[in-house]
Amino acid sequence: MVASRHVLRDIFSVLNTPSAARDLVSLLESHIHEKCPQVDVFVGLESRGFLFGLPLSTSFFKPFIPIRKKGKLPGKTKEVSFKLEYGEDVFEIQAESIKPGQCVVILDDLLATGGSLKAANELVSSMGGTVGLNLVCIELKDLQGRNNITSPVQSVLQL
Ligand code: IMP
Repeated sequence: MVASRHVLRDIFSVLNTPSAARDLVSLLESHIHEKCPQVDVFVGLESRGFLFGLPLSTSFFKPFIPIRKKGKLPGKTKEVSFKLEYGEDVFEIQAESIKPGQCVVILDDLLATGGSLKAANELVSSMGGTVGLNLVCIELKDLQGRNNITSPVQSVLQL
């Protein structure tokens, strides 16, 4: 049996302070300049990954593509099932939103078990893209989620 985790981390407490939010986005930017300057596409995971994916995509002048929970994206999609810390879910991405050979940076607020990022990596790879960087604001180190992800992982804050 897995012990339950009682502390839920909250990124909104950073976003409600403009200077802190600006500093966080510029830290994310500097990690991309250092680790994946060749980025072609930004992918954000529903929902808090959207908060960071969009400003970064406009700053690098590259497309922003959402990965959403099943049933929320219009048109043809690709899907993958995955395990969460407490249950299961299905992610979808719009078909042909990533072109073969494109270098992708995936954004989310937090890395726990790594199940969400692993599933997002599977979707990107299935379309022929390469994940150049998985970038999160918070990484829960004890859960060792980065061990489930084969592409590079960078976090701003490790707890
Ligand atoms: P993982 O798939 O187990 O790595 O969980 C990461 C996903 O769950 C991310 O999309 C997070 O937004 C969400 N999540 C997990 N734990 C927390 C938390 O403590 N605070 C906020 N979001 C969390």
